[in-house]
Amino acid sequence: MLYDAIIIGGGACGLMCAAQAGLLGKRVLLLEKNDKVGAKILISGGGRCNFTNTGTSLENFVSDNPHFLNTAFSLWTVEDTIDFFRNFGQIEGEEKTLGQLFPRSNKAKDIVHVFTKLLYETGQDIWLNTEAKSVVKEGDTYVLTAIRDGREQKLQTRKLVFASGGLPVAKLGASDFALRIAKQFGLSVIPTAPALVPLTITGKDERWYAELAGNTIFSRVYNDRISFEENILFTHWGLSGPAILQISSYWRPGENFFINLLPHADIGDLIKNERIIGGKRTIGQLLQPYFSKKIVDSLGKYLPIHLKIASLSKSDALLIAETVHKFKVKPAGDKGYDKAEVMRGGIATTELDPRTLESKKNKGLYFGGEAVDITGWLGGYNFQWAWASGFLIAQDL
Ligand SMILES: Cc1cc2nc3c(=O)[nH]c(=O)nc-3n(C[C@H](O)[C@H](O)[C@H](O)COP(=O)(O)OP(=O)(O)OC[C@H]3O[C@@H](n4cnc5c(N)ncnc54)[C@H](O)[C@@H]3O)c2cc1C
Repeated sequence: MLYDAIIIGGGACGLMCAAQAGLLGKRVLLLEKNDKVGAKILISGGGRCNFTNTGTSLENFVSDNPHFLNTAFSLWTVEDTIDFFRNFGQIEGEEKTLGQLFPRSNKAKDIVHVFTKLLYETGQDIWLNTEAKSVVKEGDTYVLTAIRDGREQKLQTRKLVFASGGLPVAKLGASDFALRIAKQFGLSVIPTAPALVPLTITGKDERWYAELAGNTIFSRVYNDRISFEENILFTHWGLSGPAILQISSYWRPGENFFINLLPHADIGDLIKNERIIGGKRTIGQLLQPYFSKKIVDSLGKYLPIHLKIASLSKSDALLIAETVHKFKVKPAGDKGYDKAEVMRGGIATTELDPRTLESKKNKGLYFGGEAVDITGWLGGYNFQWAWASGFLIAQDL
C-alpha cells in the first residue's frame, strides 16, 4: 500500500485533510470525480468565498447534537483558519458583514490555490475524473472500486476518508456516496433535506409574491425556535434572500413562520403618534418612509392602506400590527437540492469519535464535512466546519 490514506472528495474537507496530512509528512491519494478540485469553493460566496466567520459558536449550527462540535472547534479554531490561509497563501480576511470573512482579493480561486500548491509541495497524489463507486472490507483493509477516466480501478487502503460532501448541487459533483457507504457499514444517518434553500409559495398568495419579484425588505424572520434579521427577497415562485435561507434550515414541511416587516419600529406607536397630530394621513402614507411604493401598494391586499388613521378601529389597528410585525408565511416547499447551499442531516455524530471523526464501529473509516449531521448557518460557518473536520481527520491518518 503506497498511501497512508485515500481521501474521497476534493472539496473543502478533503483538500484541508490532504494538505494537513502532507504537512505532517504523510502521503495520501485524493480522488475527485470532477475535472478540478474545489468546485464548490470556487463558486461560494458569489465567487468570493466566505471562508469563515469570526463569531463562530455552536449556536450557528443545526444538528441533532451540536455539542459534538466542542472538540472539533477547540482543536481547530477560527484563528487557525485565518492563520492557515495567511501563512500558506498570504490571504488576509476581510470582514464584510456579521463576522463573515472573505479573501481581501475577493477571489475564491485564491483559496483553492492554497491547497493545490500545498498538495503539490508535499507530494500528494490527486486523481481527477475519478469517481469512487463502492467499498468492501477485506480483513483489516478496505477495497475501494473507482472509475478513473472510464476505467475501473481497485484500491486497497487501511484508512479511507469520506469527504465527498452532501446532496446539494449535482452539477458541482454532489453525490450520496458517503451516506450510502455509511449505511452499508451500519452507521445511522439522520434524515437529510435541503437547507439554506429558497422556499416556494403556491395557492392563493402565489401571485402576490410573484408581483413583488425582485423586491427586498430588511426583516426579522422567525418561528418559535429561532429568528434572523436580514433581507428577504420576493421571487416569482416565493421567497429567498439571506433571512429566508437561514430560516429554511429550521423549517419543516407543513410549518409556518412569521416575518416582522418592520423590525426596528413599532407600528402601534407610529399609529398612536399620528393620532396625536390629528391622524390625517392614511396607513399607506404612514408606511411610505419604511417601504417602497410597490410594497406599500401590494400590502393593500391585506391592509386598509387608504384608510385615514383617525378613523381606524381597534380591530383595524390590530390587523395592521399583525400584518406588519407577524406576517404569516406557509411555504409549499423548498427549491430542492439544486438550489440549496447545504444539506441538513447526514451521518449521525454519535457514530463518530469527536476527536478524529473515525467511525466508532469501523476502524479506518473517517467522515467529515457536509456528509456529517452538522449544518452551519449562512455566513462562512459551513466552511469552518469543513476545514476543522479535514484537520481533525488528518491528525489520525
Ligand atoms: C452556491 C453555494 C455557495 C456556498 N457558499 C458558501 C460560503 O460562502 N461559505 C460557506 O461556509 N459555505 C458555503 N457553501 C457551503 C459549502 O460549499 C459546503 O458546506 C462545503 O463545500 C462542504 O465541504 P465538503 O468538503 O464536505 O463538500 P464539497 O465541498 O461539496 O466537496 C465534496 C467533493 O467530493 C466530490 N465527490 C462526491 N462524490 C464523489 C465520489 N463518489 N467520488 C469522487 N469524488 C466525489 C465532489 O465532486 C466534491 O468536489 C456554499 C454552497 C453552495 C452550493
